[in-house]
Amino acid sequence: MANKVYNFSAGPSVLPEQALKEASAACIDYANSGISILSMSHRSKPIENMFAETEQFLRDLMGIPENYDIVFLGGGCSLLFCMLPMNFLDQNATADYALTGVWANKAYKEAKQFGNALAACDTKSETYSRIDKNLKLSDNATYLHVTANNTIYGTEWHNFPKPKSGFLMADVSSDFLARKINVSDFGVVYGGAQKNISCAGVTVTIIRKDLLGKVNRTIPTMLNFQTHIDAKNMFNTPPVFAVYVMNRTLKWLKDFGGVEAIEKVNRSKAALLYSALDNSKVFVGTAAKEDRSIMNVPFVFNKDVVAADKADDLAKEFLEFAKDRGLQQLKGHRSVGGFRASIYNAMPVEGVQALVNCLGDFEKKVLG
Ligand SMILES: *Cc1c(COP(=O)(O)O)cnc(C)c1O
Repeated sequence: MANKVYNFSAGPSVLPEQALKEASAACIDYANSGISILSMSHRSKPIENMFAETEQFLRDLMGIPENYDIVFLGGGCSLLFCMLPMNFLDQNATADYALTGVWANKAYKEAKQFGNALAACDTKSETYSRIDKNLKLSDNATYLHVTANNTIYGTEWHNFPKPKSGFLMADVSSDFLARKINVSDFGVVYGGAQKNISCAGVTVTIIRKDLLGKVNRTIPTMLNFQTHIDAKNMFNTPPVFAVYVMNRTLKWLKDFGGVEAIEKVNRSKAALLYSALDNSKVFVGTAAKEDRSIMNVPFVFNKDVVAADKADDLAKEFLEFAKDRGLQQLKGHRSVGGFRASIYNAMPVEGVQALVNCLGDFEKKVLG
C-alpha cells in the first residue's frame, strides 16, 4: 500500500492497528499454545481466562458496578431489539421509546410485539436531524428506551433524559466507550460491537441484576438473558474471536488512558471537522448543532452553491477525489444522502485532519 488509508465507514469500522495485529497473530497461534484461537475450545482455560479479562476490561473502563451483569451474545444488536422487551416488558406493561432514528424505530417495532410500546417523541418529519428532548413519558412505564447516538443522522444525546418511572435503557452501539457515561443511571446498556469496540459477531448487554425475572411469559432458553448470566457466557459456543478482538481493542483503549482520554481526543476530532464544515461554502453539516454527534458526521453540498441537478455527479467526483487521497467509505446513508464521516475511537486525529484538508481542496476546485 503506497498511501495511508483512512476508513470512515459507519460500521463495521476502523479498529486499532495494534488490536488487528494481535488478532491476526492469534489466528495462527493463540498465547503460545500452537493452536489457532479459531480452533480452540471455548471451555479451555485460555479462552475462559480471556472472557474473564474482557469482562474486567469493560468493568474498569466503563466503571460498571458489581450489581450489573455483562452478557456477550451473537445475533447482532437487532436480536437485542426483540430480546430486551421479551425479557423486561410484560404483556400489559408500558415502555416509552424515543424515536430519534431508524434504529430506535426498529427497537420500538419489536417492543410492540411484547407489550405496550409508546413513542415518547418522533422527529421523522425532520429526517431525524435533531433530537426532541420534550418527551411524552408514561406514568408507569417499565422503562424508557433511547438510542444514545444516532449513527445515520449524526445526532447524540448529550444529556440523557430521566425516566418518569422505571429505568433507562440505552442502545450505545455507535458510541460504546467513546465518552464517559454513568452506568448507574441506566438499568440496561447494550450495543453491537462492530462500530467502536470489535468486529461484527458479538453484542454486549449490561444489565442491573434486580431487573430480570419479572415478566410473566415463557422465554426460550437461548433468548433468556438469565441463561447466559448463569452460564458465564458459555451456555453454548460463544463468538470467541469477536470477543478476542474486543479484548485487544479494550486493552488498546486502556493503554491509551481509558475513556476520559479517548473522549478528549474524540471531542477535538469532532470539533476540527465541524469547524471545517461550518466554515465551508460548499459543504454543510445536516445535524442540529446542539445535538451533533462526536462519532458520525453527515454532511451534504450547500444547495445555494451546488445546484440540485449537478449534485449527484459532483458527489461522485468528491468521493473519487477523497479516495485518491486514501480517504474511504465517505458515502452518506441513503436516507440522508451526501456524505458521512464516522470518526470512531480508532480514527486518529491525522485522519480527520486529512479529511479537513480534502474538503478545503475540493472547495477550491469547485469555486475555481
Ligand atoms: C448499527 C446499529 C445497530 C444494528 O446493529 P446490528 O448488529 O447490525 O443488528 C443498532 N443500533 C445502532 C445505534 C446502530 O448504529
